[in-house]
Amino acid sequence: MTRVLVLNCGSSSVRYKLFDGADVRAKGLIQRIGEDGGDAGDHLSALRDLMDRLDLSDLAAVGHRVVHGGDRFTSSTVITDEVVAAVEELIPLAPLHNPGALTGIRVARKLLPDVPQVAVFDTAFHSTIPPEGLLWAVDHELAERWGLRRYGFHGTSHSYVSRETARILGKPPAETNVITLHLGNGASAAAVRGGRCEATSMGMTPLSGLVMGTRSGDIDPSLVFYLHRVAGLALDEIEESLTRHGGLAGLTGVNDMREVLRRRAEGDGQAALAFEIYVRRLKEYTGAYLALLGRVDAITFTAGVGENSPDVRAAALAGLSALGITVDEDRNRANALIISPDGAPVTVCVVPTEEELEIAHECRRALALTT
Ligand code: AMP
Repeated sequence: MTRVLVLNCGSSSVRYKLFDGADVRAKGLIQRIGEDGGDAGDHLSALRDLMDRLDLSDLAAVGHRVVHGGDRFTSSTVITDEVVAAVEELIPLAPLHNPGALTGIRVARKLLPDVPQVAVFDTAFHSTIPPEGLLWAVDHELAERWGLRRYGFHGTSHSYVSRETARILGKPPAETNVITLHLGNGASAAAVRGGRCEATSMGMTPLSGLVMGTRSGDIDPSLVFYLHRVAGLALDEIEESLTRHGGLAGLTGVNDMREVLRRRAEGDGQAALAFEIYVRRLKEYTGAYLALLGRVDAITFTAGVGENSPDVRAAALAGLSALGITVDEDRNRANALIISPDGAPVTVCVVPTEEELEIAHECRRALALTT
């Protein structure tokens, strides 16, 4: 019994990977579910067709990626009726993300009633952040009443790449301090001390922190009041603007870093400015996390931009040699696993993230499976 099926269900898509140990037996994406000309009419038919196609003999578990675990879930959890109800209660915190996962869980439990299912939360890895890193300086009665606090996201990725970084360094994770920079369409930074997360840049929702593809990252929150009162925008419009028309998309009209880099290389001033804003924010967080951790063994880049953009990596870490941080130009251009020079005080790594593999690993852990 070694196979694990990992499902990442969105409101109109299902991403799947079938693992046999660490080997991928099948993977794919079912898209535009419920839309005209889409791959399936609903999640039930999408998953039923998928399960007919896959060889699910010896299936030990189904792992579901769930974005928001709130403060209820601090580790991966075997799914019961109570867990389903709790994930449903968390919908107000993640209205765009949790409903898809919930549908996937309900359908998969119906189709595979005898296979244990595990919820793996994007927030869980951040549950070790101490209170002073979770809370903001706002009215504490309001904060308690409404559960205002940081949760953080991309936890499976930060967990996986920080552990991989320790492996690359040949050190036990418990003795390794890492700053992980997950730079995809969504982007977040984390400070990991001895395998435990101590800080992260996303907040109660995935809007805060780094500049992203379409999300603004950190802003002065007064922008919201000003846009509402002075510019006359409705709250929904402001939310839409900050989440879907912010970040690289807001600055340049395109959310894809490749296109921003192409325009910048052609001399487009706005693309060059967007790049500078993006890497400056990265440097600000990196500096803050260096100070927080005190001693840093490695800085690790991951996800689409982090794994593929030498320009972003070099610019984000430029001028930090006094702190023991340098990037070797040739290694960086080659997207090598280690891009700092030999013997550098801080190792700079590029580690491809493997969120589905980490979810499969978490399933085995939650079920105490040995294989
Ligand atoms: P992810 O969300 O991890 O799939 O990352 C997606 C983003 O990675 C895309 O929106 C691109 O902006 C970025 N990306 C992918 N390949 C490259 C590349 N070669 N150079 C720069 N950015 C890239």
